[in-house]
Amino acid sequence: MKLLYSILFALCFNCAAQVSTQIQPHGLAALSDNQQQRIVKWLNSSVEKTQASLGPLPHALLPIYLHPRYIAFEPVPWGSVKRGDPDGIELHFDRFASLRQLNDDWTLYHELAHLYLPLLPYSAFWLSEGFATYMQNRIMHDNKVINSGQFIQRLSAGLERGRNQTRKMSQPLSELSADMWQHGAQQRVYWSGAAFFIEAELT
Ligand SMILES: [Zn+2]
Repeated sequence: MKLLYSILFALCFNCAAQVSTQIQPHGLAALSDNQQQRIVKWLNSSVEKTQASLGPLPHALLPIYLHPRYIAFEPVPWGSVKRGDPDGIELHFDRFASLRQLNDDWTLYHELAHLYLPLLPYSAFWLSEGFATYMQNRIMHDNKVINSGQFIQRLSAGLERGRNQTRKMSQPLSELSADMWQHGAQQRVYWSGAAFFIEAELT
């Protein structure tokens, strides 16, 4: 645990400036009043849960670019961090999803966790994706979105997928990280990084 916090402190580029984060949703007008209320509740509660686990976000303002979908196969099929000044988050979500379904989805916790680290070079994507992948599960567990059994099951299943892919792709992790999409090496890259942070927390 001590090692994990040392790593976080070393990586977090602006942790000393702790501020309360104000979300700034863009694209709410495309939603009905009820939907808007639901989405704002979801965004605020996800930021609260994330900060309860990882500490204050180093952002005074957090723009969130909303892309509501009419048809989606999961509550939040896509999210990404938009680096800039300030950093923001882009979210594609099912406009008809309930608050419960949105809160139970991992995507937003993953993207919020990314904001605790600066943008790293492609060769270090295993570090940023591993951090976000592990922390999305920690945030969900700490805030009782998932129970301990689900937490262990999700980590075990992910680590197993990473292990399986590592057997087929033996290139150095930095090399695979730099070309992850072309190699289809997401499982090895994400879960090798997650394993690094799990080990750091246990040390
Ligand atoms: Zn990610």
